[in-house]
Amino acid sequence: MPEKPFLIHNAEIAPGQHEIVRIPVGSLPSGNVMSIRAHVYRSMEPGPVLLAVAGIHGDEVNGVEIIRRAITEGLFENLARGSVIAIPILNVYGFINFSREVPDGKDVNRSFPGNMQGSLASRVARTLTKKILPYADFAVDFHTGGNGTYNFPQIRCSRGDLPAEKLALAFGAPFIVTKPLIPKSFRKAAAEHGKIALVFEGGENLRYDKLAIDTALDGLRRLLYAQDMLKEEPPPAGPCLLLRKSSWVRAPRAGMFLWSKCAGEKVEKGEVLGVINDPYGEWEKPVHAPREACLIAHNNAPVVSQGDALFHLGWE
Ligand SMILES: [Zn+2]
Repeated sequence: MPEKPFLIHNAEIAPGQHEIVRIPVGSLPSGNVMSIRAHVYRSMEPGPVLLAVAGIHGDEVNGVEIIRRAITEGLFENLARGSVIAIPILNVYGFINFSREVPDGKDVNRSFPGNMQGSLASRVARTLTKKILPYADFAVDFHTGGNGTYNFPQIRCSRGDLPAEKLALAFGAPFIVTKPLIPKSFRKAAAEHGKIALVFEGGENLRYDKLAIDTALDGLRRLLYAQDMLKEEPPPAGPCLLLRKSSWVRAPRAGMFLWSKCAGEKVEKGEVLGVINDPYGEWEKPVHAPREACLIAHNNAPVVSQGDALFHLGWE
């Protein structure tokens, strides 16, 4: 029995085809129509369908670059089986405005499953949930830290979700961080449809990060290889630590912040992670590690307010 074509918006993509589908999501105040562009790659052989999506947060450009590079390097062409749907920019509005959100201030990743009668964020979310997600068996959603926070390359999935942890291990990022499902997020919407969505985090917003991009591209190769979707053996993964618990170290005072330990490092309890100074040179306050942990993120902001997140710690 031959595989059925995918019917996405007004396109019909049969096995063996590669199509670019433009799905309109709404119009700008200027009248210009904005659309989501999806590359759909289908092999002749039946198999699982991976959805790779980036730019749900429009300013998180590493994810956009990861999928762009995967497309230009031909990673999804010549699949041994199954299909890949690749969307480099979901939130086009945020991308051209260098913004996490859409212009109405709403976060697409807090708008799932979405609603076509709702705001722009809700329409974008609905388009993905309704028109693309039903075809996918598993997904990787690419993110970076927001607001100058640098995330060391990591995969996030739910604690105790063994199939998700297995996919995360296949991806082989340096850290696997288990996190509960965030209400109205894409990962939660996928889970509600019985699909596994891994979240990749790497680098910071509006800044390319070579380590994050290279790690993610190798991770995609390993993920596809583990599903027998790629024939060519990918580079082996380095050590991969499963961190089941995490918490933030926040700024005890407002001031100028300088880190001395950064994401990717292991720290001991009591170790100095950085320092907050006042701008007039009158005091300085060291920031200590509250426990032994791996630093999974640090804040690159030079000026911080009291309570701002400075370091994200992960441990077993
Ligand atoms: Zn994000």
